[in-house]
Amino acid sequence: MTLIKPFDPWQSSLCSCPPKYSLSAYTGCGHSCLYCYASSYIPRFYQPRPKKDYRERLEKEAKKIPVGSTIAISNSSDPYQPLERKLKLTHKTLKILVNYDFRINLVTKSDLILKDLDLLKKFKKILVTISLTTLDKNLSKKLEPNCPPPSKRLKAINQLSEFMPIVVRFDPLIYPLNTKNIERVVEKIKEAGAKQIISSTYKAKTDNFKRLNQIFPKFNELWGKIYKKEGQKIGSYLYLEEKKRKMLIEKVRKEALKVGLEFSTCREKLENLNTNSCDGTSLF
Ligand code: SF4
Repeated sequence: MTLIKPFDPWQSSLCSCPPKYSLSAYTGCGHSCLYCYASSYIPRFYQPRPKKDYRERLEKEAKKIPVGSTIAISNSSDPYQPLERKLKLTHKTLKILVNYDFRINLVTKSDLILKDLDLLKKFKKILVTISLTTLDKNLSKKLEPNCPPPSKRLKAINQLSEFMPIVVRFDPLIYPLNTKNIERVVEKIKEAGAKQIISSTYKAKTDNFKRLNQIFPKFNELWGKIYKKEGQKIGSYLYLEEKKRKMLIEKVRKEALKVGLEFSTCREKLENLNTNSCDGTSLF
């Protein structure tokens, strides 16, 4: 099994990403987000572990990847999850890839990325995507128990944005948990120095839906209604009905455009709302 693979988000017909590769040093993720999609596809997802012979394999594989390719690090685990403090595999990855002419897109929820700032500055083409679902630290603690709080992520955006373009994933929108203060969230993202917002609605899978319902019992009835009764099945996900999805996404889009940010959606079939490539890679 190769480490650097063509990006294919579990064969989603709704993915509109430009061609790119995906690379994860870890299998699974210790951030333990309730809404995580990757947990449905990877066994023992919340018991993260390093990939076997990672460094040696990466050194061999990097030589075979065409010059100028985009590599997203990563899409199925966070490269700066807690295990990185100990194993530093993402740091080692960057030390190898800095010798190549690739376009690197790091995707994380952690300010641990700042430890690699000096190394990141050495890349000619680098884009960082930070996920932020809410400004409320208590809500974040419930939703993403092992992630750094929103304030630390905003600080990371601020520091990184001096040196490289930053995209923020305000994602997923879980109605009504994090959809009340959209204007404020967007303003904070802008103030921190980001260039683009990617936003999409939460899509229910059996396991993530169960986790959310366990932690937020007061929404069981509402979510049952808007996802199970009124929602639509697309692929293996339950989506909100299109009208509701559009309404939420257009709200974020309106605020983003108001403050001069680029905007895009992810796996919503609403590409007409995008002002930039859906994954932000046109900012390279
Ligand atoms: S950080 Fe990403 S990969 Fe890790 S648990 Fe959260 S959603 Fe899943």
